[in-house]
Amino acid sequence: MTISSDRREDSWERVLRVREEFPDIPREAVFKEDMLRLGIAFSADALREHAAYARKSYFIFSFDRLPLAEMDQRARLHAPEEIRMHGGPEGLAATVVSVRNNPASPYRVVAVGEEEGGGCRLELDGRPLAEVEFAPTPPYYGLSTADGVPLIETAPSIEWGYLLYLTVFRMCQYFGRDEECQFCDINHNFRQQREDERVYNAVKPVARMVEALRLIIDSGARAEAYTITGGSITGRLQGLEEADWYLRYAEAIEQAYPGRFIGKMVIQALPAAEVRRIRDTGIQIYHPNYEIWDKALFEAVCPGKSRYVGRDEWIERILAAAEIFPPWSVIPNFVAGIEMSRPHGFATEEEAWASTGEGLEFFMSRGVMPRFTVWCPEPYSVLGEGGNGPASLRYHVGMLKTWRSVKEKLGAPAPRGYGQPGLGRAVFSVSSFMDVIRDQAEEVGR
Ligand code: SF4
Repeated sequence: MTISSDRREDSWERVLRVREEFPDIPREAVFKEDMLRLGIAFSADALREHAAYARKSYFIFSFDRLPLAEMDQRARLHAPEEIRMHGGPEGLAATVVSVRNNPASPYRVVAVGEEEGGGCRLELDGRPLAEVEFAPTPPYYGLSTADGVPLIETAPSIEWGYLLYLTVFRMCQYFGRDEECQFCDINHNFRQQREDERVYNAVKPVARMVEALRLIIDSGARAEAYTITGGSITGRLQGLEEADWYLRYAEAIEQAYPGRFIGKMVIQALPAAEVRRIRDTGIQIYHPNYEIWDKALFEAVCPGKSRYVGRDEWIERILAAAEIFPPWSVIPNFVAGIEMSRPHGFATEEEAWASTGEGLEFFMSRGVMPRFTVWCPEPYSVLGEGGNGPASLRYHVGMLKTWRSVKEKLGAPAPRGYGQPGLGRAVFSVSSFMDVIRDQAEEVGR
């Protein structure tokens, strides 16, 4: 079932109605949220086999609206990691958007003939929307470590080259529909990537990662931050518990290249003693992702986290981490939209905004900076099965407004570790929260 208040409208009507309701949210963010929830289609000639741009690396989840096996070969092999739209009839500011393949999307990238200047154009329902660039190829793509593994597999770049995404464990020990977070397809994506015969390793050795980063630094890549992440370890992996397993990477990277990058880590909410160890390695930003605020929904949507750690304990650990890290350095993610998913979610946008807004205020008033990724209902996730979702555009744009309102009311800074904030400068590609930050030109999120 589609959770959408806009089902009977065409795409332009939907966008214009939402823009009218939220006139202080930039129109670029409205289009971006709509693309993130609906995905993007590409014409065959827009995806040029030999053109230089960064292909989609499948850096952790599939973030597609259909399985690889059902995808046209061009989209499967040549979809870009991200697009940047700009200009067009409305003179849009440059805005980076992560690519979620969906051949049925009303957003379509097409090639433009030489007589019109060449390049590509983004269209909505066949009407021109913006000019489009594809993510530039990082200078190290094409290189491999000494063991022959391509660097794009070990350390892909996202956010227009700003962030190295180091998924060091590509599976999760919350396994099966009774444990996996119901919006997540990490284990299924791993399987489909292997079936597609891609180089896609379950575990990345520490020494390979350190070597990869040396090659990346030497290549002159513009990456300023890295994220160490992967699935949860509820038992042991290679004989190690979660903190011990992931900390080896942070220790090795920070010893080899101290302070060269902003080090970030996305792992579970851990006890304070382990969080201190994370900080002491040199990791600067800790993401104990919270996903969804409402108590009953947290238990329904995150059954593994709920059973192994529990919602109250998860919150306590986030607050304890905020005492260990400097202010605003604990950044738990919310998956925006899952609180409207069937069968458990809220029936109206107003209820969802009120619930998540309560969570935003709870955390931000305690020096914790929650942020979003836009829910992509992947077909292999429990929530994405059977056409569930996405949440409405009205929900997403209203949620951005709520986040910004709470942030401004509490005087919170722009989140650190996401690059520059603000329209035309932001590079964070899976939500528009960085695009909608205003009046903080002096804040360099670096
Ligand atoms: S903890 Fe949840 S969101 Fe994270 S990888 Fe495991 S199942 Fe996915």
